[in-house]
Amino acid sequence: MQKLNYFFTPIITLTCVILFLCPKQTVAQLKQQRDTVKILPKSEWKGVEGRPYKQHVPIKITVHHEGGKLLTINDDARQRLKNIQSWGMGPERKWADVPYHLLIAPDGTVLEGRHPLTVGETNTEYDPTGHLLICFLGNYNQQKLDDKLLKVLTQLLADQCLKYGISPKEISTHRDHSTQTTCPGEEIYAYFKNGYIVKEVERLLKKK
Ligand SMILES: [Zn+2]
Repeated sequence: MQKLNYFFTPIITLTCVILFLCPKQTVAQLKQQRDTVKILPKSEWKGVEGRPYKQHVPIKITVHHEGGKLLTINDDARQRLKNIQSWGMGPERKWADVPYHLLIAPDGTVLEGRHPLTVGETNTEYDPTGHLLICFLGNYNQQKLDDKLLKVLTQLLADQCLKYGISPKEISTHRDHSTQTTCPGEEIYAYFKNGYIVKEVERLLKKK
């Protein structure tokens, strides 16, 4: 046993030194392991592959709601998303895919949208290049953001901040970039206005 220790101690010491000297790689590996929110793939809502479009790397995160029609917990969120994709890729908009990268259903399920390294879309005047777009399905000027949804949002934001090396200070809402919209609705915006979202994401990242 003693002999084995003579053999292993230098190896362990060397491993520690290598890990210390290569912090980036270590952090990158941890990032992979620490996603707390499960994202359902496109196949789960029968989405089609997006068309090729401008590439980008997200440097900030912008939160939206769909606006328009309400979506309750009993409605079919996956069908709603499928309809958004069909409309967006159709003759009316000719978009490459769903306009947003990640979508949150009223029951807290997170659904995969457009590829995150592809620039999103907007009907307003801001340029979404560099923005990771997270969108709540439904209308949050009229429907409520309950505790469960708030938790999903902050955990998803923390996961994405970690994944792309984005500071929580770079999280904002659509209306912060555009004068043409009240998106993401009063119910969601209230938690940005009082500073809760950024603070909570900072707290979650400290725990990771
Ligand atoms: Zn929006």
